[in-house]
Amino acid sequence: MKIGVLSLQGDYLNHINTLKELDISYCKVRYSSDFDCIDGLIIPGGESTAIYNLIEKENLYDKILEFVNTKPVYGTCAGLILLSKVILNNNYTKNIKSFNALDIEIERNGWGRQINSFIEEVKIKPFNEKFRAIFIRAPKIKSVNKDVEVLSEFKGTPIMVRKDNILGTTFHPELTNDIRIHNYFSNIVENHKVLC
Ligand code: GLN
Repeated sequence: MKIGVLSLQGDYLNHINTLKELDISYCKVRYSSDFDCIDGLIIPGGESTAIYNLIEKENLYDKILEFVNTKPVYGTCAGLILLSKVILNNNYTKNIKSFNALDIEIERNGWGRQINSFIEEVKIKPFNEKFRAIFIRAPKIKSVNKDVEVLSEFKGTPIMVRKDNILGTTFHPELTNDIRIHNYFSNIVENHKVLC
């Protein structure tokens, strides 16, 4: 099993470090050909407009869309914004065309600006112990279709969601030493591989 990390902008190196920690094969994804050898993809946090601009520049949109429709993908923060069906507050320099993988409405910077970034210990359904969730200019999930499972909430707002092979968090597990969410995603990738 190999997991690719979209490495155009944002904190992709932290995801790679977590995959290394888990002893999972990984590769940086920057070109169309990089998709050929991966079983799952992580779209990191960063700046969703910047990531989207680079996706367009590198002609990766259709390739990512095809991957998202068939294989496991995990989006953190900006990565989750790109996966969400409806993006609110989506008019920074131009509108992002999302990959429409999760039927949720998400508001960019919905928890506030950089200065409003915060850390919370949160309960996550599949885990017994709480998780230290780091929110940085985080998007806020405003609504979730019933076919999307909410795996964690904070103050009544979903912060971790899943639909089948698609996983999203509005926070950054790759910035902690806690490998449980990456491990959870790698199990999704492993099981999907077996099913194929
Ligand atoms: N605020 C950023 C955006 O709208 C996301 C921030 C992040 O990924 N930490 O793209």
